[in-house]
Order: sequence, then structure tokens, then C-alpha cells
Amino acid sequence: MKKINTPFVLLFCILTSSALAQNSVEGKNILIVYGGWEGHLPEVFAKKIASWLEEQNANVTLSESTSSYTDTALMESMDLIIQHITMGQMKGKESEGLRKAIARGVGLAGCHGGLGDSFRNDTEYQYMVGGQFVKHPGGQIQYGVTISDTTDPITQGVNDFELKTEQYYMHIDPMIEILATTQFSGEHDPWIEGVAMPVIWKKKYGKGRVFYSALGHSEDVFEIPEVWTLMTRGIEWAVK
Ligand SMILES: [Zn+2]
Repeated sequence: MKKINTPFVLLFCILTSSALAQNSVEGKNILIVYGGWEGHLPEVFAKKIASWLEEQNANVTLSESTSSYTDTALMESMDLIIQHITMGQMKGKESEGLRKAIARGVGLAGCHGGLGDSFRNDTEYQYMVGGQFVKHPGGQIQYGVTISDTTDPITQGVNDFELKTEQYYMHIDPMIEILATTQFSGEHDPWIEGVAMPVIWKKKYGKGRVFYSALGHSEDVFEIPEVWTLMTRGIEWAVK
């Protein structure tokens, strides 16, 4: 009988599980499409994410127009789309181009209104994302985020945290995999007291992976280590 070196086996397991836990964006082709309502600083967000991706040696393409979604050759060459367009509108063909790419296996990631409050009249788009912003009662308020799945590679090691920003109330697709929630106190709208609302989720759309974080109203929100960790890990998870 062979003697197994336990510490070595343990170390091997830890190394392989952490390697398997996260995809890497290194060498991946990532398209960042930004625009829409200026209050969410789409260009600031796009450049911040692009600079992090470039540090990870990803190939980043920036676009200020949803017309990129109709560029079949461009879309086919991508591993991930990151979108930051609050409200705004896109043409039917653009929406179709984006949805087809994601269904084929390209990832989709984004945050706050840039992914969860885009194209309010496009229900097919909302069907893909898995939730739609409807209100943030009280505006800028202090609230807690509770990690609901502590074993997921995106949330692993991240503790519950508090922040002051918009607390998104969203219409939610029951099929999303909820990674973190927030509870409404009822201070601003008493009838929603105690509602636990998803803040971070992931889901599939066809063969594509979709990641969403409701956090990202302003640049300072990304200075909160938990917010940045969840966002960047979500991007890594969603990449094809
Ligand atoms: Zn906002």
C-alpha cells in the first residue's frame, strides 16, 4: 500500500480548487459598452474597469454605442460584454445582436443602472439580465448587504458589509442564483419592511453567463473592498 503524503495532498487540493474556482480574464477579449444617463458616470466606470482589465492582461475594446451589438464579427470575437448604460434606448437589431451573442456563450456583466436599469421598454433584454430596477426608496441611505451564499467562488471569504448608497428595489426573475441580499427597513416605504432583495446574482442565458451587482451608483462605492471584490470576481466568473 502506498503511503500518501497528507500535507502535500492537502496543498495540492487547495491550489487546484482555488485555480478552478475562478476563471481568469487574461488574454480574453472584452467589450465595454457605455453611455446613457450621465449621472451614473458611464465613462468613469468604463475607464476604471478597463484599466483593471488591462492590468490583468485582457484585450479591452471600448464602445460608446450599442451599434457595436450589430457588428457580428466583433461580437463573435468577444469572450465577455460589460455594459454600463443607464436607461437609454437601443434598436431591435442591437438588442437581438447582444442577446444572440450571450445565448451563444459570450458572458455579460455589469452593475447598478448600467445593466439593471437599461432599455426600460426592452423586456427581452430584461429577460436576459434577470432583474429590473424600479425604485431606490430614500435615495442615499445606510444599509447592510448580507452574503447569502458563502461557498460560491464569487463570494467566498467576503463578509457581510454596510454602505451608504442607493438601495435598489428590483423586479426579480425567480431563476437567478442569489449571492447577496439587502433587507429594507421600511423607514421610507413602510409596506416593504423586511423585504430581502437580491443585490448580487448570477444566471445563465442560453450558453452565456450573466453576472449582476446592484452596487455602483458612484465611483466611491467601488472603493469599498467588498464591492470591488464582488464586481471583479463576477467579471472573472462571467467570462467565456
Ligand atoms: Zn444610481
